[in-house]
Amino acid sequence: MTPRLKLENVGVQFAGLRAVSDVSFEVAPGEICAVIGPNGAGKSTLFNAIGGYVRSTGHVWLDDAQLSGKPIHEIAAFGVRRTFQNGGLFPDLTVIENVAVGLHQSHNISLLSGAFSLPSARRMEADAVRKARELLDLMGILSIERVLVRDLSSGQRRIIEIARALAVPAKLLMLDEPAVGLTTLEIEHLDQILKRLAREGISVLLVEHVLDLVMSVSDKVVVLSSGERLAVGTPAEVRQDQAVLEAYLGYSELC
Ligand code: ADP
Ligand code: MG
Repeated sequence: MTPRLKLENVGVQFAGLRAVSDVSFEVAPGEICAVIGPNGAGKSTLFNAIGGYVRSTGHVWLDDAQLSGKPIHEIAAFGVRRTFQNGGLFPDLTVIENVAVGLHQSHNISLLSGAFSLPSARRMEADAVRKARELLDLMGILSIERVLVRDLSSGQRRIIEIARALAVPAKLLMLDEPAVGLTTLEIEHLDQILKRLAREGISVLLVEHVLDLVMSVSDKVVVLSSGERLAVGTPAEVRQDQAVLEAYLGYSELC
């Protein structure tokens, strides 16, 4: 099967620092691939390289499209989605409005045409709300569609951020430490959502320190250390890898 995402010798250099060095791996359609490694290993930089946020060497393909060297908006248009650390949700809008706004932006409707209530904008809006509801349903959160975002827990907000990232058709979803600050229950919910999205055919790239979540959801784990690919394999394989255990010595999670 053609991989959904293929990285070949990807490298990122910051002045004197080689943050990512010759990293290669593949992710299949509907596969969840975790990228783990100590702080400063290059995980976020690797995401930035895939998304076009930093200049990189090597090659990145999404299906048959070569992403390397393309600008951010073109890479996004191929179906690469990510969430941002500071989610950027609108606290005074409802859940459904926040997700529908994501669709609006993707349809390139200016806020102005919305304000003038042009018939075309109204049709788009109805369409956006219908699609947003489908997404909320898929993620099991339709019951809170009319709740204001400011009244949600941080875990619920994280889920809404994911829903909004997926408001436009996604082939690859990149999540950088989505479980930070979540309760055990919220992490369980996130676990179910990621598995559901993968069943829908979305490939997920997950940087995460909560190893229980990584081991539960991942089909594949890539371990980075000092920018290099230290190991790649199933969660069980990576857990027993001697080089991984040594790199993590002093990091309680894997030991
Ligand atoms: P991780 O996400 O695995 O913790 P990062 O990808 O954030 O690691 O960082 C990898 C290395 O690159 C670190 O040494 C970090 O200080 C450095 N780095 C990250 N972003 C930049 C940047 N924009 N400019 C210079 N150095 C950076
Ligand atoms: Mg990081």
